Amino acid sequence: MKIRVGLGSCGIASGGRKVMGVLKSRAKELGINIEIENTGCIGMCFYEPLVDIVTDEKTYTYGFVDDELAKRIIDEHIKGGNIIEDKIIYSTDNEADYEKKQYKIVLENCGIINPEKIEDYIEKNGYSAVEKVLKEMTPEKVVEVIKEAGLRGRGGAGFPTWFKWNAARKSKGDKKYMVCNADEGDPGAFMDRSVLEGDPHRLIEGMIIGAYAIGANEGIIYCRAEYPLAIERLELAMEQAREKNYLGNSILGTNFNFDLIIKKGAGAFVCGEETALIESLEGKRGMPRLKPPFPAQAGYFQYPTNINNVETLANVPWIFSNGAKAYSDIGSGKSVGTKVFALSGKIKNGGLVEIPMGMTLREVIFDIGGGIKNGKKFKAVQMGGPSGGCIPASLLDTPVTYEAINATGAIMGSGGMVVLDETTCMVDIAKFFLDFTCKESCGKCIYCRIGTKRMHEILVKITEGKGKMEDLDELESLAYSIKDASLCGLGQTAPNPVLTGLKYFREEYEAHIIDKR
Ligand code: SF4
Repeated sequence: MKIRVGLGSCGIASGGRKVMGVLKSRAKELGINIEIENTGCIGMCFYEPLVDIVTDEKTYTYGFVDDELAKRIIDEHIKGGNIIEDKIIYSTDNEADYEKKQYKIVLENCGIINPEKIEDYIEKNGYSAVEKVLKEMTPEKVVEVIKEAGLRGRGGAGFPTWFKWNAARKSKGDKKYMVCNADEGDPGAFMDRSVLEGDPHRLIEGMIIGAYAIGANEGIIYCRAEYPLAIERLELAMEQAREKNYLGNSILGTNFNFDLIIKKGAGAFVCGEETALIESLEGKRGMPRLKPPFPAQAGYFQYPTNINNVETLANVPWIFSNGAKAYSDIGSGKSVGTKVFALSGKIKNGGLVEIPMGMTLREVIFDIGGGIKNGKKFKAVQMGGPSGGCIPASLLDTPVTYEAINATGAIMGSGGMVVLDETTCMVDIAKFFLDFTCKESCGKCIYCRIGTKRMHEILVKITEGKGKMEDLDELESLAYSIKDASLCGLGQTAPNPVLTGLKYFREEYEAHIIDKR
């Protein structure tokens, strides 16, 4: 038997470390010798602090654990052998509704293993994909498997991963680089952070496989400095992987050499754009470059460079362990596999979920997320962060695929899902996101630099009751000009919250103007 305490950032913020201290001291007081260890976020952030009692056959999970409950868990459950029924939120026999419709690939170990122990990862079949790839496959075959699996970039655009790997593989260079974009910056997004905190070896394994495919011997994880716990666990995981020869020279006795470093980003949203990320890696101000040349041709210090985000790479070990077909069988159409989302806003069960592609928004928000808090009505869901848009209630049956979400005017994005209820002002939401993109614009393009500012000014005017009907035309006209005249994704998508707002909630914009006349 052992005890697990959820100590991802969400668990720690809710008091998980204190709970762990109480569990340990009470066990000591009673002379009980039991393993009490930490784990990452299991996804149910809304129940934190979480404590699991794990036996060979079953797992019992207690939620909202405070000092008193922690003592009772030791006294009654561990010492007395009596489960505290009314405090159990779910168990092996009684799966939580939150979990029932999920399909876990990327998050399969999060909240289960101790992220600080490589042995835990290995016990869950970890690093077996690397062994298979390095000993049995050519780099060409690795790319082929990723193509067959149909994996697409999970950072937002959904670009086929095999295509990028192949382009980098074919590029000529004395050196090549495998880079992981862990610069998660969307407001409301915490998917990548949870993977890094809960299962860092999965990312390392995905990076080794990708590096082997493109012929890179050096890798860089670009992670925002605001994720100190993720960085700490990654550093420890890298050290452990070196000790076991998963990183370093002649990995597992093969002639493949690969090692990693972490570069901390200062938190600029635009550095999520891959060429701005490269500039930042090179020590310059993070500003996007003109393409071509693409990073696969001339990236980090002009060497061929491949960049994937955390979630994309975290899918890779599973694909090689379970086969490309098993992966492509999940999902719908060209959107295969799973997608991780961070549910936040006015939703009952805020946390992390992983769903098979093709599930509808309604299932995600109501069946998994439990619906709207405080008996309010659902109004819209903001997908794709500041680059995305608001999807209204009439489109709740939209399947979660790249194609269907794009057709609504929003984008899949990296996985932020901010749920809005009937009390939310849609103009305020658009103003919030425009303020964000306006401040995060790198300033290189005039339309993005000045246009987003002008759009924000108009939205402020409207919310202050000083708007005119002509302002709505001006907003739309500016929005399309910014989209057309911006160099990178930040500017090209910045007007989306306003455009979807005007498309689905125009009457709210008009009401701000008419009501104040
Ligand atoms: Fe910079 Fe905006 Fe131009 Fe992107 S679109 S390069 S963020 S000014």
